[in-house]
Parts: sequence; C-alpha cells; structure tokens
Amino acid sequence: MLSRVFASPLEEPLFLNIVELSVSHIAPSAPLETLPRPESTSRTESSADVAQTRHDWTLAEIRDIYLAPIPDLIYRAQQVHRAHNDPNEVQMCTLLSIKTGACPEDCAYCPQSARYKTELEVEKLLDTELVLHAARKARDAGSTRFCMGAAWRQVKDNQDFDRVLDMVRGVRELGMEACATLGMVTAEQAERLAEAGLTAYNHNLDTGPEFYGEIITTRTYDDRLQTLQAARKAGITLCSGGIVGMGESVDDRLAMLQVLASMDPHPESVPINALVAVEGTPMEDRPPVEPFTMVRMIATARILMPLSRVRLSAGRTEMSDETQALCFLAGANSIFAGDKLLTTPNPGEDRDRRLLDTLGMRPMAGGPVPAQQGGSSSSCCSGSCGSEAGSSKARSSKVESSTSPVHGG
Ligand code: SF4
Repeated sequence: MLSRVFASPLEEPLFLNIVELSVSHIAPSAPLETLPRPESTSRTESSADVAQTRHDWTLAEIRDIYLAPIPDLIYRAQQVHRAHNDPNEVQMCTLLSIKTGACPEDCAYCPQSARYKTELEVEKLLDTELVLHAARKARDAGSTRFCMGAAWRQVKDNQDFDRVLDMVRGVRELGMEACATLGMVTAEQAERLAEAGLTAYNHNLDTGPEFYGEIITTRTYDDRLQTLQAARKAGITLCSGGIVGMGESVDDRLAMLQVLASMDPHPESVPINALVAVEGTPMEDRPPVEPFTMVRMIATARILMPLSRVRLSAGRTEMSDETQALCFLAGANSIFAGDKLLTTPNPGEDRDRRLLDTLGMRPMAGGPVPAQQGGSSSSCCSGSCGSEAGSSKARSSKVESSTSPVHGG
C-alpha cells in the first residue's frame, strides 16, 4: 500500500508550502520495479477531471501517476495536454552560455564548477554585440526564446550585471522572449531584470529536497526557492525543473515535481533534463537514463502542471527519434534548438526540423508570454522558459561536457 507522505493538503501561500515541503519527511523509496503498480484509472476519469489544475498533490498520488502502465500514463497526459495546449506545437528555444566555467559552486553534475577537473574552457562574459548576433541568428532559424546562462553563484551589482541587462533589452527588441539563468538574485536585482524586459528566470531545483544535499553543498534548497520567489514577485515568469539520473530515488524525483506543483501559480516552464555524465565531475560514472524514465517524468510533469511548458531538455542527443516522439506524446512541448546547450551537446537544427516534419509537428510561433494565473484554472496554456542539464554518457571533448539545466541557477 502506498502511504501518503505529506500529511496535509497544501493550502498556504506558495512559499510557505515550499518551506514546509523542504523539511517534510519523505518516505524511503523502493526501486521502481518493486513498487506496487496502481490500478488503471484512465477509463473511469473524465477529461475534465484529469485536466484540473491543482497545487495540493500528495506524493502518493504523484507516485500512482508516475508508476501507471505506460499506455494509461500517456493517455492521461494527452488528455491533460490537449485540454490546454496544441499537442502538435513545440516551442523552439536557444540557449547560450554568456559566461562559462570557473563557478565557485559544487553542483556535482556540472563541468562549470571550478572544483572539478574537466576540459571545459573558461570564458569571461561575452560582448553584448556577440550575444545579440547569436540571438538574431537563433530567431532567424525559428527560435522564439533566447536563454542566456552565466556560471555565477549569484548576481553582483556591477558592470557585468549592467551588460546582462543590456543583453536582455536587446533580445526583447528582436521580438524574442528573453530568459536568463545567472545564479541567485535578490528582490532588487529581479526587479531590474523585470524592468529590462526579462520574460523568464531559470533557476532549477535540480532534485527533491531530501536528495539535494548529496549533489550540492554550497547553497541550500531554500536559497533556490528564495530566488524563485524574488523573480516571481518581480513579475518574471519562472522556469524551474531538474535533472534525472544523478542517483536519486524515484521518490526524490517525484518530490521535486511535488514542490514545483505546489507553487501557485506553477512555474510557466518546467525543464526535465537527463544527466550528461561528464568526465571529471563526481557524476562521471553514472549510467545513462532509461528512455522510459524520461517519458514517465515528462508525462507526470504534464499531468501535475497542465499549463506549463514542459521542456524536454538535456539528453536529447542520446535519444532516438522514437523516444523523443514518445516524450512529445507524453506532453513535452518545448525543446532547445541548436547544437549546444551551454556546454553540452544538443541535436542540431536540421535534425530537429526533420524530426518535427516527420512527426507532422510544427514549431510554436512567437508571441506574448502571459504569466500563469494563480489558483485553479483550466483555461488555455502559455508559459515560458526552459533549461538544460546533462544527459547520458557524453564524456569526451570539452564542448561535449555536460552541464546543469541551465546551470542549476
Ligand atoms: S550548475 Fe550553475 S551554480 Fe552549479 S556549478 Fe554549474 S554553473 Fe555553478
């Protein structure tokens, strides 16, 4: 019998919920194959029932979703997806590392940490013109969102931040959504980013609260939540997700989704990354993530957060076209275009275009990005942002090293 892990429905405001979740006990988890399978429910629940937007999911409910037989799981995810989104559209985003490496943090999956010996080449903050040139190129190739990642622990109020604000203004002037992942930000810094026109701030939770300390010791889970709160309060939409394949249990993964789904409103963008095990990082020997693990994570994220853009992020180079198609069926509606994600490899634009053509799908057109509404809702979608992490064994050249989902933030 699956037990209810979080004792009471989460009714308090968003960040009270999150703090409570971050200190709650999470039941020890068993290997996936030994967990009891839930009974099929998709034949008895109406589309309206499954497409409800909620913020009070229990871990037991989430486990039942995640462990459902794949046909039931994908059917339910499709019901939710079609109630809120165009199932044949995928948002194309481009991610650029604007400052690479030499990061003082110790995120165990990240080759950009100064603590690990990887072949990554350190780069200072790029020139604004160079960044805007890359954004223009990405727009002309079909991307509607341009994400800029800097390997900083936190934003500092200096000239580099002023330059990032100029980059944000420039990207918006190109008619694109602008997303940034710069590490921790204060409320004042978030307001300056919002004034510059930033559409979304990426800051990943990476994993569940209980496992978090196994992969990062230089900042706390609550630090991350506070940055998300600062961005939300400034009116910037949120991009937050995590990485699968770091040695976490099933419950750890699902606890992360529970924290995200407890936010009201949900993050507009939820990147799901497969670890890229990069040589020189503590994760270098992690085995590749099973394709169906990604499918289950994406379907579960879609069901819990119906209006969010669920972003199939790092790890796509290791996925077959068929696995990616299954992820789209499971509700993924955003990917990163281009052959590099910060420092990790990514399928090139030609392969993505061919894949979408083959599937009869199309890139999402650009347009305004409405923030999600708080509280229950079942209206039509829109959302934002994305992020990347490492995927399976991509250990070799420096450009092929992995990274965090848009550096964990
Ligand atoms: S994930 Fe981000 S914060 Fe962590 S080491 Fe990498 S660049 Fe630094």
